[in-house]
Amino acid sequence: MNVETKKKDVRALTKEQLRGFFEAQGDKAFRGNQVYEWLWQKSAHSFEVMTNLSKECRAMLQEHFVINHIQVDQMQRSSDGTIKNAVRLHDGLVVESVLIPTKTRTTACVSSQVGCSLDCKFCATARLKRMRNLQPDEIYDQVVAIDNESRLYFDRPLSNIVFMGMGEPLMNYNNVLKAIEKITSPEGLGMSPKRITVSTSGVPKMIKKMADGEVRFKLAVSLHSAIDEVRTSIMPFNATFTLADLREALQYWYEKTKSRITYEYVVWEGINDTQKDVDALVEFCRFAPSKVNLIEYNPIDDGTFKQASNTALERYIKTLEAHGITVTVRRSRGKDIDAACGQLANKS
Ligand code: SAH
Repeated sequence: MNVETKKKDVRALTKEQLRGFFEAQGDKAFRGNQVYEWLWQKSAHSFEVMTNLSKECRAMLQEHFVINHIQVDQMQRSSDGTIKNAVRLHDGLVVESVLIPTKTRTTACVSSQVGCSLDCKFCATARLKRMRNLQPDEIYDQVVAIDNESRLYFDRPLSNIVFMGMGEPLMNYNNVLKAIEKITSPEGLGMSPKRITVSTSGVPKMIKKMADGEVRFKLAVSLHSAIDEVRTSIMPFNATFTLADLREALQYWYEKTKSRITYEYVVWEGINDTQKDVDALVEFCRFAPSKVNLIEYNPIDDGTFKQASNTALERYIKTLEAHGITVTVRRSRGKDIDAACGQLANKS
């Protein structure tokens, strides 16, 4: 291990702790505020740039701390405008994040873990397994990088964030929550929590914890089937966290937050494309106001899964609408650079 990695990341300190650190050094507590501002509002990558501090002060910080900032190693641009960042972490591991521009918004799709511990059969990230959780600032940095790209290439700030990159956010909940606190704080990016969506494959215990925390961001659940047998075959952890448990947790979520739930759903040929599958979904949507987002399948090269026919999709849309359930169809973006849902696997 090199010496640098033994030093503490200065960004793990709260503002109060930073102030305390300066006091302990016999300096003014106020310096802590200055450093904090450099770190969070100005996204400083080094102590060198903190020009309102003396040279000695910067050297002293350097002696005690590191700034484990992410590095955008490679940026790819899709023909549809989507941008994918390969993000190198301080220990050399790489995650990916995506900027998705539309006419009215710019959305950042960020990662919460390196790899993923779940084993969804249709997702490329699952093949990487989980290597480690991301730290709050590693999540925050991805957002800042995309915000900068949005300003540079599209002349506007980032408007939305979705936790739909690599990893299962609810398996790294504390760090995701800390990152969101920073993103929404006036000292960070000052974004409204209503513009942030956490997407989960459904960890009941954590959904309840979120509800208890009275969080104000939105929740999306990757459902893909409302029949246990089918869901377990494509998302094996469903054998442990069954649909009944998920439903109970979501009911609790809705009672506490009164926030509508979005279900993400891919329709595959021969897997969930019958009327029985549609009826089960309608039934599952009944207990709380919800919306279904039908996602186009992005092939991950092994041929087991195939996007269902338009007829099958139409059946879903018609039936859901007939039951008063809002349904949207999400076309994929950034497919040519493997930036679409479920394609993030550090190919390059
Ligand atoms: N672990 C979280 C977030 C990451 S996946 C979750 O499961 O929600 C983001 C979304 O992409 C999920 O809805 C997931 O089911 C979907 N997805 C995964 N692989 C896909 C693929 N190959 N094509 C389309 N969507 C996919």
